[in-house]
Amino acid sequence: MNLPQIELKVLKFWDTKKIFKKSISQRKGSKLFSFYDGPPFASGLPHYGHILATTIKDAVLRYAAMRGYRVERRVGWDCHGLPVENLVEKELGIKSKREIEKLGIKKFNEACRASVFQCVKDWEATLKRVGRWADYSDAYTTMDNSYIESVWWVFKKLFNQELVYRAYRVTPYCPRCGTPLSNFELNQPGAYQEIEDQSVWLRFPIKGEVGSFFLVWTTTPWTLPANTALAVGENINYAKVKVGEEKYILAKDLLETLGQPYEIEKEFLGGALVGQEYEPLYEMKLEKPGYRVVAADFVSVEDGTGIVHIAPSFGVEDMELGQKENLPAIVSVDLEGKVKKGLGIPGEGKFVKDADEEIKADLKKRRFLFKEAKIKHSYPFCWRCDTPLIYYPLSTWYIAVTKFISQLVKNNEQIHWVPEHLKEGRFGNWLEGARDWAVSRNRFWGAPIPIWLCGQCQNIKVVGSIKELGKKIKDLHRPYIDDVKFTCDKCGGEMRRTEEVFDCWFESGSMPYAQWHYPFENKKMVEETFPADFIAEGLDQTRGWFYTLHVLSSALTLQNIGLGVNQPAFKNAVVNGMILAADGKKLSKRLRNYPSPEEIFAKYGADTLRYFLLASTPIGEDYYMSDKRVEEIYRRTISTFWHTYSFFKTYTDRNFKPQKSFKPSNLLDRWILSRLNNLNLTMMAAMDNYELTQGARPLDAFLDDLSNWYVRRSRRRFQKPDKISDKNAASQTLYQVLLTLAKLSAPFTPFLSEEIYLGLKKTKMPESVHLCDYPSSDKKLINKSLEEKMARVRVIVAQALAERAAASLKVRQPLAALKIKNAKLKTDKELLDIIKDEVNVKEIIFDAVLKNEIALDKKLTKDLKEEGLARDLARSIQDMRKEAGLTRKDTILIVWQSHDKILSGLMTNWGKYFMQENSAKEIAVYDKKERYLLTKDLKLGESKIKIAIRK
Ligand SMILES: [Zn+2]
Ligand SMILES: [Zn+2]
Repeated sequence: MNLPQIELKVLKFWDTKKIFKKSISQRKGSKLFSFYDGPPFASGLPHYGHILATTIKDAVLRYAAMRGYRVERRVGWDCHGLPVENLVEKELGIKSKREIEKLGIKKFNEACRASVFQCVKDWEATLKRVGRWADYSDAYTTMDNSYIESVWWVFKKLFNQELVYRAYRVTPYCPRCGTPLSNFELNQPGAYQEIEDQSVWLRFPIKGEVGSFFLVWTTTPWTLPANTALAVGENINYAKVKVGEEKYILAKDLLETLGQPYEIEKEFLGGALVGQEYEPLYEMKLEKPGYRVVAADFVSVEDGTGIVHIAPSFGVEDMELGQKENLPAIVSVDLEGKVKKGLGIPGEGKFVKDADEEIKADLKKRRFLFKEAKIKHSYPFCWRCDTPLIYYPLSTWYIAVTKFISQLVKNNEQIHWVPEHLKEGRFGNWLEGARDWAVSRNRFWGAPIPIWLCGQCQNIKVVGSIKELGKKIKDLHRPYIDDVKFTCDKCGGEMRRTEEVFDCWFESGSMPYAQWHYPFENKKMVEETFPADFIAEGLDQTRGWFYTLHVLSSALTLQNIGLGVNQPAFKNAVVNGMILAADGKKLSKRLRNYPSPEEIFAKYGADTLRYFLLASTPIGEDYYMSDKRVEEIYRRTISTFWHTYSFFKTYTDRNFKPQKSFKPSNLLDRWILSRLNNLNLTMMAAMDNYELTQGARPLDAFLDDLSNWYVRRSRRRFQKPDKISDKNAASQTLYQVLLTLAKLSAPFTPFLSEEIYLGLKKTKMPESVHLCDYPSSDKKLINKSLEEKMARVRVIVAQALAERAAASLKVRQPLAALKIKNAKLKTDKELLDIIKDEVNVKEIIFDAVLKNEIALDKKLTKDLKEEGLARDLARSIQDMRKEAGLTRKDTILIVWQSHDKILSGLMTNWGKYFMQENSAKEIAVYDKKERYLLTKDLKLGESKIKIAIRK
């Protein structure tokens, strides 16, 4: 079998016969199965993570279609945001926001638009190769005007419910991209990295007490010029200690951090320190009183000194404390993350992380540095450009998520998660701790935020549609939208648009509405198909797309505006884990520690990869990717399926006709049909519950039963049947099994299943397996007790064969008896016959006092030995037939010559047997004047025999 070649052929077949389109049109009028496709960023190429998610999506959707649903499949592309901007900046050699402004927003955005679709072709090619069925010609993109208009509509709905506000707050900020990021963007994979940083202990002189200092610890020296207070814990124990000539105040539990001998002079609670003043390390002009000790409940004695340096501009907690304590705030760093000039701070004009060294050196020189050390800690980086983030005060637009957290949690109860633990765990916990969402980005290429502000009064206007703009506009992007101005209806002043664009996660979270331009178009359809029946993405999306979908749907359905009340965006979510290299490490292009998808497609086919992804690892857990693991699936599952099918094609008659009314009577036939119908039940129950692993896995065990037991045990019925009716029964059975199996497996291995289906298809059947209904189990054919007994038989046989192997007794050598301890099978003669035949024994004896479960009688009589030799010889002649290039229809003449008495006797006693086994019409004595097809001197037992054959 060449699966990759078969797959390309099948792809062509689907394409020319328009099978995908037919799979939808044939279900016209049926119930719709609603699916939302998470838009991948159109920049960058698909990798294993995408292939995994796409395989899951495709399997579920094919299954739903076979179950009778109409399954529309629209793909989408995420075109906006930092991923695209960063790529374009690299292409244009741009290093900062200022350079973009110099180039002009118009030119920059044009470049972004042009670059978006560079990768779409590659994406489509990969997805198609995996077998992902979708309507690629009708993909939605987040940069279409219609999409943006729906995003505006969503935003205005939120604004009208007072869920949008602007606040000046400290947020995670990328100084290179020049924009704030949301707290969940910090949770994107790779955002936190282990790095080595400065850590310094500083002496803050206590005012009015010469030679006394507060000891303070920090890992961000660059924030020290912005220090305006020190915080202590009111109920924490502090001590004043003498170290040499100087005195220090710090938490009593942290005195070890001094690293030198000390003498405790005084102990007191932190509350006693509140209000004390100190000399700043860098004195700045303050607009209100600062440089004093305040109390804060976030102070702990976990690390540091128990006295926390407060810079209200550069910490979330610092700013909150500053507002509470009415502290001044100093912004000593500019928007590019560089130390401001003219304030007398060392390292001015340098990026803060680079200024740390100079500030430290300066403090050392001025004797404020008590000691220093390196520290390893995890620090956040920009998930798109890898610049270290800083916390920075900015005016930003927020969605007030905290206002409806309880509804987020309640709506989650309606979602069925696979794996289930995500509901209460990773996703549920994240919802409970949700924070307000910083939704504006100070950037260029994105859906513009539709807010206009009056320059003279506080009036705000939010636009929720193109119509509300009051004029035609060709492109809703910046800079064109920035030219739209309104007159304030309150004061007559000019209203200008707030400059920011949307966080691209807001745009993808709006996808259920925006992909169909809701509510401007497709109103009824969107409302009928909301929420989605099913979505599937990777685990990281619990803090990405799954989250923003959920936040927006929950906000939009707080009231009924057509989408129902209190709705999640999706009813079933299948969440996959990560794909790792075989050694458990991350896949790394540089280390080449994994086979590329293309290699796997070319070597084992997409179906093998699909089955590996669906069956090898429980959904939600991490995968270990290696050539060996995929190869194992190929060998064990895929090629077993194919070879069983080939066997059927080889050994059934050309004019074979399936009988609808076929009733199995043979034990093996009844058994395999029972197994098949049971398998059908199991797979369907699992798939109805979105349990893909449980749906896919049982196929593997079934194929083992089918190939290594049913077909092997039935070989003779196909190849040398005693009765033609028996061959027909076996053929009917195997046909039914293979045809049903092709349908059952179609969602998982769509190519192989198609090829096998087409090879079995009779006229009047649907033209593709994917146009068939999913089989329904015939419960009348299920015989649980027979299945259990047969499973027992297989165990007994395996044990007996293992015992033979241990005693070096070939299976062809008959033995007198097999003893079995457990008498459960005693009355099942047909099953016992199977055991006898498999183990090659003359008799089965039940023996309740046996020490082990089974025991073989290994004594060899003269008759048994002769029979063993006969079987060996029949096998050798069979090999000679093959070597001579004979087909199974040819009958032959066998001649022999031997001086051995035992072998001469063998040829006389077993002649008939050889004629039957080797399809011979005659057995004669070797004549050296004759010409034969093949002559061989064989060693048989202890002696030799010459055998020749001809037609
Ligand atoms: Zn960045
Ligand atoms: Zn106004």
